[in-house]
Amino acid sequence: MGRSVLITGGNRGIGLAIARRLADGGDSVTVTSRSGEPVKGLSVAQCDVRDTASVEAAFKAVESEQGPVEVLVANAGITSDQLIALLKEEAFTDVVDTNLTGAYRVAKRAVRGMMKLRRGKIIFISSIVGLYGWAGQANYAASKAGLVGLARSLARELGPMGITSNVVAPGLVDTDMAAGLSEERKAAILGAVPLGRIADADEVAGVVAFLAGPDAAYVTGAVVPIDGGLGMGH
Ligand code: NDP
Repeated sequence: MGRSVLITGGNRGIGLAIARRLADGGDSVTVTSRSGEPVKGLSVAQCDVRDTASVEAAFKAVESEQGPVEVLVANAGITSDQLIALLKEEAFTDVVDTNLTGAYRVAKRAVRGMMKLRRGKIIFISSIVGLYGWAGQANYAASKAGLVGLARSLARELGPMGITSNVVAPGLVDTDMAAGLSEERKAAILGAVPLGRIADADEVAGVVAFLAGPDAAYVTGAVVPIDGGLGMGH
């Protein structure tokens, strides 16, 4: 049995690619989804990161199956795009509740076990948009920028206990989330990407696997862009 890994929102998209990559490397991986429906070849725990009791239940299930979580990937995320003048407060708080407060909920629950083990890896899936900004995504950008402060504070708090805390900041990745964008919007983004193409979810998974692995033992508090060069200099 490999390390105990939990990936929130790992039933599809980037989270699923990370899950498959880590499982192929020999880790014991559980993914969460809101439905809890089966995912081929992976353990699934039902979890809504907006709900502390749901997070607690998911961790209990994972701990009884595969032991305390050693690698946490806080990946669950949503968008609700609107220009600021039209952005309803509910759309702001919903996005922050899932993307940022949800990450806090799972990280807080995970460190309990990691502190006992005196080892652990926490990886937050942020976005280039958190650092670069994007018109129509003030809520999403704020939530993703918040992950950087969260991760770096945890890096400082938990480093002495052998726990690393890092962030990846993907650009446009080919998933359901990107499929929700208009062709016009995608073309505008890709026009500014030096590599000139959308990323495959597996290209994010490779970087996350590195951060979760032994070669990144001395990496903490880092924000690693995976954006084809879109945000250079941030
Ligand atoms: P998808 O929309 O394909 O997947 C989103 C995942 O988040 C799903 O597994 C979904 O679960 C889960 N999720 C959403 N809300 C909740 C919730 N309240 N509780 C638990 N799980 C939830 O998106 P991606 O794979 O593209 O995105 C994954 C992460 O990567 C997100 O944080 C996103 O912001 C980030 N990202 C994506 C980029 C892109 O271009 N695609 C670029 C940069 C960052 P369910 O199936 O149950 O809805």
